[in-house]
Order: sequence, then structure tokens, then C-alpha cells
Amino acid sequence: MAIDATQPYDDTNIFAKILRGEIPNKTVYEDEHVLAFHDIAPQAPIHILVIPKGAYVSWDDFSARASEAEIAGFIRAVGHVAREQGLVEPGYRLLANVGAHGGQEVPHLHVHLFGGGPLGPMLAR
Ligand code: AMP
Repeated sequence: MAIDATQPYDDTNIFAKILRGEIPNKTVYEDEHVLAFHDIAPQAPIHILVIPKGAYVSWDDFSARASEAEIAGFIRAVGHVAREQGLVEPGYRLLANVGAHGGQEVPHLHVHLFGGGPLGPMLAR
């Protein structure tokens, strides 16, 4: 079910558990600010989630409250992962769902990185 992106951070969410090492993940990249791992239900040949290590509900929360270092680290990590995965020349797509209309289900900011083949139209209607 989609979440309310204005709710306070809930540290029982699945990505908080992944960050604490309570649930396994297939890590592709990690640094002091960021963890990137394969989505458990991929919707493209390559489907990676990039999340900040800080406790942020959504893009809205992160853009309002995160430090300059966290924001720079996150943006650079997304680009780094895409380059490492060889996605720049063929191309890729980034997506961040926010709140109910965005269809956000996990209340910890994540950017979806899709690639590995043509991705079709931007939105299914
Ligand atoms: P969203 O709808 O933007 O909140 O996307 C949540 C994403 O998290 C979905 O693509 C799920 O497949 C993915 N997901 C949920 N649980 C896990 C997990 N344990 N490991 C990796 N990805 C997950």
C-alpha cells in the first residue's frame, strides 16, 4: 500500500532493516552515505535501488532536511552506480516515488535505477 510521505520516519521499514543488517540484500555499492542493492522484484533487466543511510522518509524529506554532504553523496552515488553498471552509453532511467500518488510503498527514500534494455514509455496509463 502506498504511504503518506509526510509521516514521521518509521525505523521498522524494510530498508531500515536492510541498513541494520537484519535482512539480507544483494549489495552493488556502499559508502558512508549510501547503500545500493538489487530490487527483490526487478521490473527491468537491471533494477537497482539506491538509498541514503540516513533516516529520510522520501525525496521530499531528504531534500528538505539532509545535509549538503548527504545530498552530494547520494547524487554522486547514483551516477557512480549507473557508470559502474555500464548503463551510461545505452541509457537508463531514474525514478523516485513519493507518497500516495507516486505509489511509494517503502517509507525510506529510494531511487530506482532501471536499465539493461529499452524501457518503454515513461508512464503506463
Ligand atoms: P516503491 O513502490 O517506490 O516504494 O518501491 C519499493 C521497492 O522496494 C519495490 O520495487 C520492491 O520490489 C522493493 N523491495 C521491497 N522489499 C525489498 C527487499 N527486501 N529487497 C530489495 N527490494 C525490495
